[in-house]
Amino acid sequence: MTALLIVGDVVTDVVARHRTPLVPATDTAAEIRTLPGGAGANAACWAARSGCSDVRILARVGTDRASWHEERLRAAGVRPLLVRDEEAPTATVVALVDAATERTFLTDSGAALRLARGDWSPTLLDEVSHLHLSGYLFFAAPSREVASLALAAARERGVPVSVDPASAGFIAGLGVRSFLDAVEGVDVLLPNADEAALLTGLPDPSDAAAKLSHGFPLVVVTLGAAGALVARCGRVVARVPAPRVRAVDSTGAGDAFTGAFLAARLSGAPPCEAAAAGCRAGARAVTVLGGRPPEP
Ligand code: ADP
Repeated sequence: MTALLIVGDVVTDVVARHRTPLVPATDTAAEIRTLPGGAGANAACWAARSGCSDVRILARVGTDRASWHEERLRAAGVRPLLVRDEEAPTATVVALVDAATERTFLTDSGAALRLARGDWSPTLLDEVSHLHLSGYLFFAAPSREVASLALAAARERGVPVSVDPASAGFIAGLGVRSFLDAVEGVDVLLPNADEAALLTGLPDPSDAAAKLSHGFPLVVVTLGAAGALVARCGRVVARVPAPRVRAVDSTGAGDAFTGAFLAARLSGAPPCEAAAAGCRAGARAVTVLGGRPPEP
């Protein structure tokens, strides 16, 4: 029983890199690529790349590109459990990346947040030793219900659960209290520094990590190029540096961290070793375009 089940999102990423500033009402030359993405799917692929031999992802996609996504997930070593939505397209994010690698997103959640209670069955937890929930699920009512059913079923079976809060902007939209209520009972929380600050009202990541760890048994706050903090029982227990790299695209750094962290935990690594594995994967992720591990 060593499978990792991720419930989350599969997204088509359209990445447009433009060297000159955008000018309204005319053309701006850009390099445009269509890549498979989605926080949940990216984390699944990084977990598989980091040595987890049985990774599964439950997500909802449109009939457009469903086969392409399944094929890309299988190629990355992930078992796709994709529900095909007849009415909504696959979630698509258009990422505009400027010369300074600053990113602006246009997000169509499409089928991703239409994951609904009928898509969930507790039997999805058969053989599963860890459940990871992508934070995006909490930002729409149907998918939030799936997240809550999955969390309850995992707790009943004694399967540990992690959550990546995913988006400070969407948490602010939902409300911090509602988000924290929805993730109550989660074993591992993996916010980035912005999300940790928003969830606690504390701008300092160490303070935020320490405070969050009163409510969650294990908290790991990622800090971009500065690495990550591990907190337990109200205090920071480890600071893990990130390897120095030349970043070209920060898409999916947090997902890479999550995937490698979970793979390491599943293979028995203690939290700070797992965080170091997460930092290595995060650093690797920022050196490639898109959110998935590069093809071997
Ligand atoms: P998110 O993508 O969720 O905002 P972060 O930006 O905190 O997450 O990045 C996650 C992890 O990726 C960091 O903890 C770090 O290990 C790694 N990482 C991110 N940016 C860099 C960078 N510029 N150089 C090296 N590692 C990085």
